[in-house]
Amino acid sequence: MMPGVTTLQRSQPDTVSARAVEVARTALVDEVGADQVGEHLGVEAEADSERLVTHYFACRQAGYVGWRWAVTVTRAYRQQVVTVDEVVLLPGSESIVAPDWVPYRERIRPGDLSPGDLLPVADDDPRLVPTYSFGDDVLDADEKAQIRTVAKDLGLGRVRTLSIEGRDAAAQRWFDGDQGPGSPLAQAAPESCHSCGFMLRIAGSLSETFGVCANGDANDDGRVVAFSHGCGAHSEVRLGKRQGPQPLPDHVFDSLSETYDTV
Ligand code: SF4
Repeated sequence: MMPGVTTLQRSQPDTVSARAVEVARTALVDEVGADQVGEHLGVEAEADSERLVTHYFACRQAGYVGWRWAVTVTRAYRQQVVTVDEVVLLPGSESIVAPDWVPYRERIRPGDLSPGDLLPVADDDPRLVPTYSFGDDVLDADEKAQIRTVAKDLGLGRVRTLSIEGRDAAAQRWFDGDQGPGSPLAQAAPESCHSCGFMLRIAGSLSETFGVCANGDANDDGRVVAFSHGCGAHSEVRLGKRQGPQPLPDHVFDSLSETYDTV
């Protein structure tokens, strides 16, 4: 190993390029200024060529703790002179970096839509199927478009309906959410929604598991609730003696007889 140079990976970098520390430093200082450049941290060969070598220098720029300047140099075959390819600033393992970018469509969460916002559903969204081909997934894009047109022209209701996958996903989401049996409200409830007079029954395949709460005093009024959910506003809840209103003590001053009680 050459003096003053730390090899960061096992593949051996080209000797001439690895020794070109000052060439790399000069190019870096020209680019960013001497006050931004710290000590030489190491050198490594790029995977596809041993003559393509990157030198790393500490970054002294305020706010960039753990970042490293990377200066990539190379030389032509049988040449002893290296040239600088690029200078970039790279994060190290302790650097503060932005979180991975997530496409806008995947970042949307319930409650994000504002009045006037549009959120189109993709043609191949697995949660929906054409109404007249429920469960039929062999249609190509043209056939799906034809079905939409026919359904619209005939005015026979919705063009698409929930697929089995979409329905199951909704049921699981509701069951696991705040209106399911695992929520703190349900855990502390004296009775479940199944026996509550405020629960509206729904139709369809989810009718054996879910209903809609119609108690205006309950937290879940207007929401789909699992039968095994529940809350303290259950229709059959009654207060025990100790939970009822406590009797008030006698008046200290009787305003009718205008006499003071002795207390
Ligand atoms: S009032 Fe409570 S127990 Fe009754 S349906 Fe609504 S959430 Fe369920």
